[in-house]
Amino acid sequence: MNIAVIGTGYVGLVTGVCLAETGNRVTCIDVDEQKVLKLRDGISPIYEPGLESLMIENLSRGRLHFTCAHEEGFREADLIFICVGTPQRPDGPADLSYIEQAARDIGRHLVKPAVIVVKSTVPVGTNEHVKAVIAANSRHSCQVRIVSNPEFLREGSAVSDTFHGDRIVIGTEDDEAAELMTELYRPFGIPVYRTDLRSAEMIKYASNAFLAAKISFINEISNVCEKLGADVESVAYGMGLDQRIGPQFLKAGIGYGGSCFPKDTNALVQIAGNVHYEFKLLKSVIEVNRDQQTKLVHKALERFGSLKGLRVALLGLAFKPHTDDMREAPSIAVARLLTELGAQVVGYDPVAATQAARVLPPEVVYAADPQQALSGSDLAMILTEWPQIRALEPADFRRWMNEPVVFDGRNCYDPQQMKSMNMEYHSIGRASVL
Ligand code: NAD
Repeated sequence: MNIAVIGTGYVGLVTGVCLAETGNRVTCIDVDEQKVLKLRDGISPIYEPGLESLMIENLSRGRLHFTCAHEEGFREADLIFICVGTPQRPDGPADLSYIEQAARDIGRHLVKPAVIVVKSTVPVGTNEHVKAVIAANSRHSCQVRIVSNPEFLREGSAVSDTFHGDRIVIGTEDDEAAELMTELYRPFGIPVYRTDLRSAEMIKYASNAFLAAKISFINEISNVCEKLGADVESVAYGMGLDQRIGPQFLKAGIGYGGSCFPKDTNALVQIAGNVHYEFKLLKSVIEVNRDQQTKLVHKALERFGSLKGLRVALLGLAFKPHTDDMREAPSIAVARLLTELGAQVVGYDPVAATQAARVLPPEVVYAADPQQALSGSDLAMILTEWPQIRALEPADFRRWMNEPVVFDGRNCYDPQQMKSMNMEYHSIGRASVL
């Protein structure tokens, strides 16, 4: 099929590349000229395992193209995917200005009938609005069918998730469009669930809100465990053995971040509020996460009294391993608070340091490797469980730091092992080793 993808961010680029890989002719469109130039040269602007090589392969086979010109992308397109950002507005709800612009672009430049597929995460009712905006801006009155096809990929494993996801959701009232989508996704061999437009839009928000709730729930359990002398790792394992609960997303830590959970939970509170429903549970999920992000700093304050003048090594800055995405990463709240408290912060991340420098306080300095970060530090905080950070031996902290005092926000180490090495070790939901 001929496909156009609007937006070449994490979702659009991965979607475009994977659809080219399954034999379609794909044109990816972005308004960011620099990005398009890089992409044409086979350089991925984002760090995503496996993406760049697959992109280069499909560029060389002539199945993948990049352009800034919407009309070029739409000329032959049977399907047009909208994959632009829907960031959070300062007052909470999703900012739909990029979606509206994409819809206007389609209206102006569409010259043949096409199926419009909204992959961006959008509030319930937005797909209908997109159709109306396209019609209002249409120059050639082409027939447009609309499909909601929310995306469930995870950054850091986006390519693999696209080929091996649990389900594909297709929301549409149009049978022909549903058939075309089912055909498009057939090579992926993933179960397709067909539903109506509004339910598909809601499935995405409800899924993210539920996963965020699981994380905040286990974090609350971890806080109670600390007070009662129970071990949250053992509790989570025991809970996860129950198939109704399952082990995933029961990892206690310093909370969720990233480009989706924070904005989507806030947006859903707003979506419910718009129809006069107070989503009390979700409001608590958000509040718990906010407190949890700076938990290590409060633990360190309790331990040291003051952090003024202390050198703090932050190990891992991205919101999770295997990505360079810094959007809403817990490291932002941690670095801000540490800086406010007068600590000297040195950050290390295997891939996200450049992105981090744009959003962390300007006082933060960056280390090229864990050794440089830890050398001369008074305490270390593990914020992201990158393999490079997990690979550190307890002896490394002892060798490089002023005093081996470690605050682990991702429970990477066994407290008993740390004890046997005479380390001071504080983690989440487990007794500290002093
Ligand atoms: P992103 O910010 O990384 O990328 C968006 C891209 O769209 C940018 O490159 C921007 O230049 C481009 N763009 C904006 N307006 C345009 C226009 N009119 N024409 C052409 N290009 C335009 O966004 P993302 O992280 O890929 O997220 C996209 C959507 O998918 C969001 O709604 C998000 O919530 C959702 N989503 C994201 C993830 C994720 O892990 N990132 C997962 C599932 C769903």
